Amino acid sequence: MKTFLMFALGLSMMTNAIAHKIETGFLVIDPDHNLLKEISKNPEMIIDHVSKMGFEVYGSKNLVNFLTAKKAQFSELLPVQSKMGADYPTPENVIKKMQSLEKQFPKLITLIEIGKSVEGRSLMFAKITAPAKLNNLAMAQRPEFKYVANMHGDEIVGRELMVKFIEDLAKNYGTDSRITKLLDSVQIYIMPSMNPDGAMKRVRANSNGVDLNRSFPDFTTVDNQNTLGKREPEILAMMKFQSQHHFKLSANFHGGAEVVNYPFDTQADVFPLDNLVQNMSLNYSRKIPYLWNSTEFEHGITNGYKWYEVDGGMQDWSYHWYGDLQLTIELTKTKWPAFSTVDRTYLDNRDSLLGYIEEMAKF
Ligand SMILES: [Zn+2]
Repeated sequence: MKTFLMFALGLSMMTNAIAHKIETGFLVIDPDHNLLKEISKNPEMIIDHVSKMGFEVYGSKNLVNFLTAKKAQFSELLPVQSKMGADYPTPENVIKKMQSLEKQFPKLITLIEIGKSVEGRSLMFAKITAPAKLNNLAMAQRPEFKYVANMHGDEIVGRELMVKFIEDLAKNYGTDSRITKLLDSVQIYIMPSMNPDGAMKRVRANSNGVDLNRSFPDFTTVDNQNTLGKREPEILAMMKFQSQHHFKLSANFHGGAEVVNYPFDTQADVFPLDNLVQNMSLNYSRKIPYLWNSTEFEHGITNGYKWYEVDGGMQDWSYHWYGDLQLTIELTKTKWPAFSTVDRTYLDNRDSLLGYIEEMAKF
């Protein structure tokens, strides 16, 4: 019996370790969600962006055989074609832009490299606060906030919005009273890209084929200890960084849908601060007509688990271990839209990006 249990445990841990590998991905047409229900029982398959039409599913090379056997209607999700992405900056150019902003606004911006990606690219936060160099006492008293984007490499819009937001905050400090007040009272950390390798290849996973938003410790699975261990470099960097700070509020940005997703993602239990996270989600969506008038989600918000279960996501991890409230914001239905649309999306979201940081004053 004991041997059997150990074997079973070993097997489940092994399953967990390989659960997040992405070798292939498909868009499945499944309006009645029958196949979705069946697939949800397979932890090695990653579900994403469930809609009235169907869902995305990622997994091993065998996935195509499984879907064929189920007589599913599906199409393969291929990396974004190069001509569509031609106008987006490279990950290196994103870093150069951040460096030039730090040079231009040294009294407000400090860059912090928290680690390197699998391929050695910089994982960079811009810290924005006034003054940039606070003494220890002021630093301890000033609350910390963070935005993280582009942990799925092919969900590119958040990355661009974050770079624009950094520049907007710095340029308008001292003239825009709302921005001035924010920078005088909050330490804002912004990471435009948590997965620069994926962005370079225009794919979801990192360069080891791992889904970063399924690879954080998850209190409801066997990976339920907040230990560093054998994890992806991008995950390790974020875990170490989080443990060295006292973030109260944060958000991470995705693409492929248009909705503000609040915790929990990983379990059906009602989140302890359900009213607060629902209100903050509504406050975000209220100012953005395409979210507020959503035909898919009422007023453009959803509980994560009700939408679809996510194990190992950053959102639930940050609250469970650090009390850092986090929302997951899906910005645009198209993951990699024409670059010319980014300015419009930024203008749509700008007020909410500021308003969400201002929520910190309420708690
Ligand atoms: Zn995503």
